Amino acid sequence: MSTATTSTATTPTLPSDRPPPGYRPLTEASLPDYLASLDEIRARLGGRPADWQVREVGDGNLNLVFLVDGPAGAVCVKQSLPYVRSFGEAWRMPLERAFFENSYYSIVGPHVPGLAPAVYHYSPELYCITMEKLAPHIILRRGLIAGTRFPKVARQVGDYVARASFFTSDLARPFERKLDGMALFARNQSLLRITVELVFADPYRVMERNRWTSPALDGIAAQFRADGPLKAAAARMGQRFLGEAQALVHGDLHSGSVMVTEGDSRVIDPEFAFYGPIGFDLGAFIGNLLLAWYAQPGHASEGDDRAGYRAWILEQIGIFWESFRATFLALWRSEAAGDVYPASLFAAPGDAPALEAAREAFVASLFADMVGFAACKMIRRIFGFAHVADFETIADKTRRAACETGALMLARTMLLHPEQFTRIDDICDAAARFARDI
Ligand code: ADP
Ligand code: MG
Repeated sequence: MSTATTSTATTPTLPSDRPPPGYRPLTEASLPDYLASLDEIRARLGGRPADWQVREVGDGNLNLVFLVDGPAGAVCVKQSLPYVRSFGEAWRMPLERAFFENSYYSIVGPHVPGLAPAVYHYSPELYCITMEKLAPHIILRRGLIAGTRFPKVARQVGDYVARASFFTSDLARPFERKLDGMALFARNQSLLRITVELVFADPYRVMERNRWTSPALDGIAAQFRADGPLKAAAARMGQRFLGEAQALVHGDLHSGSVMVTEGDSRVIDPEFAFYGPIGFDLGAFIGNLLLAWYAQPGHASEGDDRAGYRAWILEQIGIFWESFRATFLALWRSEAAGDVYPASLFAAPGDAPALEAAREAFVASLFADMVGFAACKMIRRIFGFAHVADFETIADKTRRAACETGALMLARTMLLHPEQFTRIDDICDAAARFARDI
């Protein structure tokens, strides 16, 4: 056996360690040449590359994002970096996440018309997606901090989750297609590992990358780390996260992954996609609405105590769930073509009540998952690595800690006493019980 063979066998080269030939991080200066090489994009932008305005705007944790405006049109370009941007080059990360984001859009996009950006091009060499530039959209989280009402967003995102999850589940498709999809997304392991560790484990253990509003929250952080039943409840949700391949889920559906205008809502950033529990997306969205709700007093100003806006946020939680529920059940009644609950089993008129009861029971199980996942998501944003601007922008640390404490107390109750949460109003009513005066 040659030395070279031995060294290859014992030290495999991970894609994250060595970007493939041809890969280079794009820059504001190099992007026009790349886009000019794509006929469709060049036509879409119009004019000459020298006329194009390029701006790098990535405010996320992981990737480069450029907005490009030409005389005729505009595009958004998102490229993977071989490391976690918000951490630094030491935290290596495979470039393939752009591949998974693009794959998710191509599978889910046709089922969610008008609710995701149109994807124009994917470069497997540069790990780079060129898509519709959303304008004048803003990130929903920014709007929630500013106190802006978006009348359509809750209904539209509820519909989005219902459609994306129903059409990729065993209710809608032959199981062979779901297994093919699972095989593809089973390779999205580095991003899954981030979720498994950051959401379900780190907040409950000593970990260097954790942080919180200290010293105010030191005591509660220690209590959570010492709370066996709480850790068991969070770990159980982690088990459901890995074990329930119900549908192709977005995997990171917080308020920073939704861009909005008054009438339009688009879900972006599905790089964490995998076949998992539908309740994970539901919980991410309402968990982040609850964080926004708890943060509101921190954004109060002279003349606006944010009480009215807070009430609006709780209403949106109800609208989101009801819209998900109604759309998901309607799709199941009219579009079921999969291998579970096949129509041929329920053909007799007398079978209808049993089928309807099964539908209601499944939706109730999604609700229970939503409660548990929402709680895990809330806790990890206060004790873990990645925090949310809703709280981070509250400069006064005492006020911030008071807001965060309310969210932590609700989340703990959701994990320890799931039986108290069976209707959406139970969540909204409980939110107020844990609000702190600040
Ligand atoms: P990351 O995965 O690095 O978090 P995101 O996909 O969340 O990246 O994008 C980062 C930011 O870029 C978003 O918060 C948003 O401001 C902007 N952005 C992303 N996609 C678009 C788009 N299609 N149109 C306009 N802006 C976008
Ligand atoms: Mg992202």
